[in-house]
Amino acid sequence: MVDSGQTHKISVGISSCLLGEEVRYNGGHKHDNYCTTVLARHFEFKPFCPEVAVGLGVPRQTIRLVGEPGAVRVLGTQDSTLDVTDRLSSYAESVADSVGDLRGYIFMKDSPSCGLYSAKVYSKKGAPVGKGAGIYSGRLRERFPLLPMEESGRLNDPGLRENFIARVFLYDRWFQDVANEASAQKLIAFHSRHKYFVMSYGQKLYRETGALVARAGCGELQQLLADYIKKVMLGTAKPPTRKGHVNVLLHMVGYLRKTVPGGIRQDLIKAIEEYRTGQVPLAVPMKLMQHYLDNYASDYIKQQTYLNPYPFELGLRNTI
Ligand code: SF4
Repeated sequence: MVDSGQTHKISVGISSCLLGEEVRYNGGHKHDNYCTTVLARHFEFKPFCPEVAVGLGVPRQTIRLVGEPGAVRVLGTQDSTLDVTDRLSSYAESVADSVGDLRGYIFMKDSPSCGLYSAKVYSKKGAPVGKGAGIYSGRLRERFPLLPMEESGRLNDPGLRENFIARVFLYDRWFQDVANEASAQKLIAFHSRHKYFVMSYGQKLYRETGALVARAGCGELQQLLADYIKKVMLGTAKPPTRKGHVNVLLHMVGYLRKTVPGGIRQDLIKAIEEYRTGQVPLAVPMKLMQHYLDNYASDYIKQQTYLNPYPFELGLRNTI
């Protein structure tokens, strides 16, 4: 069942073991409860297990990343003549069409195939020399730099989790509202609804996306769309700061200047200040703001995706 306000489940890739599939080297799994209960209400998960897909079997000997940065191979830990680098890279290529239809991807941490930041790299003598992306996940990240990607451990961080989920919904809206049937008008409408969302990531991104949209109707549309979504997705890769949210909230208070009495606006500003100093989560000023916007703001403000970047019941703004 899809929860309120969402018309369809969003296709998101995931490491099979996170769904509880017994595909790990030891026949076990790494079931992630948050994914299978909370996120599964909103996401249609598409599982991938690259090691099983390339024929390594279950159970299997463990593999690890060995070598220098830029020249890493995936070798067996017991039998170092087992080299599955090319098989895993080819598998990433073979699923590229399916991954291109996804709007996000959640990888299993630490894995030499699936880890995104945390896969250990070893020297040829066996000493750990650093951490990085697994071979399969690394290839997909190179191929799809705009696709929101996260790994399981980092999803426990409230800020990273909120940002990842917000970007999955953002990327999905881009395809639903613009890319699937593109026009300059659709780009302008999309940008108009996302102005405050983009602003929360900083004035630079706000200015640069605005400058791109100002070109709508003047040149080659497909190039403009590609430039715009690249700017937005790369510019939102890191979560907004508290300062960024405060800036947006104060702009919204400004919109209520003519319709809401000064005393009430002071209550809003007090709640924003409590959020700025870390005394309350973002949900507190947002809830108050929502009430006054619903009753007193123009449609332009009410339609801002910043107010509801994902279904409210996810409760993500209670934690940041
Ligand atoms: S981490 Fe990736 S390769 Fe390893 S079991 Fe999970 S899905 Fe398969």
